[in-house]
Amino acid sequence: MKPPYHDCTELRQAVIDACLEMNAAGINQGTSGNISVRAENHMLITPSGVPYEKLAPEDLVLIPLGGSPEQQGQLKPSTEWPFHMAILQAKPGVNAVVHAHPVYCSALAMNRQTIPACHYMVAAFGGSDVPVADYALFGSRHLSENIIRALQERSACLMANHGAVATGDSLPRALWRMVELETLAKGYTASLTIGKPHILSEDEMAEVIAAFTDYGLKDSR
Ligand code: 13P
Ligand code: ZN
Repeated sequence: MKPPYHDCTELRQAVIDACLEMNAAGINQGTSGNISVRAENHMLITPSGVPYEKLAPEDLVLIPLGGSPEQQGQLKPSTEWPFHMAILQAKPGVNAVVHAHPVYCSALAMNRQTIPACHYMVAAFGGSDVPVADYALFGSRHLSENIIRALQERSACLMANHGAVATGDSLPRALWRMVELETLAKGYTASLTIGKPHILSEDEMAEVIAAFTDYGLKDSR
């Protein structure tokens, strides 16, 4: 019996388009990164190590939420399927997860440097900083646990010595967030090279976070 969404070509194509878009936008390269979306009680995720320009809709891998990738006839899912699934399970409002290796996010993550409230857009990630998830081997359960901890009150985080994760209630929203995160990381890194960035106070950030409730697209974490 075919699982639900087996034939959902539109959703599968949207994931492929998002992969191509993140590489074209310069926030990821090669077969690094991976994208998943919620498909009712399943997760649809990119396969492991396949160049995005070679992906066809049927190459995406469907895994039941809470299950494991045993469906015969499918490609091997992204090595990072455990943390994608952990996020989708822990956060009912999240419907899409984007993982990438953006250069400036990765540089800060190599230094294990949290992004402080150096710009008001930090609020777009749910609080007054963007945390760094502790290091663990890619694809490991330990990495999932570290990411879940970092995302507790946030919609994105850096990943130590690796890259970044952004979430959203829709795929465009998660991708938008990853682009904004890399822009922020780039600005913060530049500010460190020319001086000492001024950090907004908790009161100033609380004001921004309140103002954000009325700004543009909204979603849950
Ligand atoms: P996959 O090709 O297995 O998705 O791995 C890419 C990656 O970024 C691992 O962290
Ligand atoms: Zn990665």
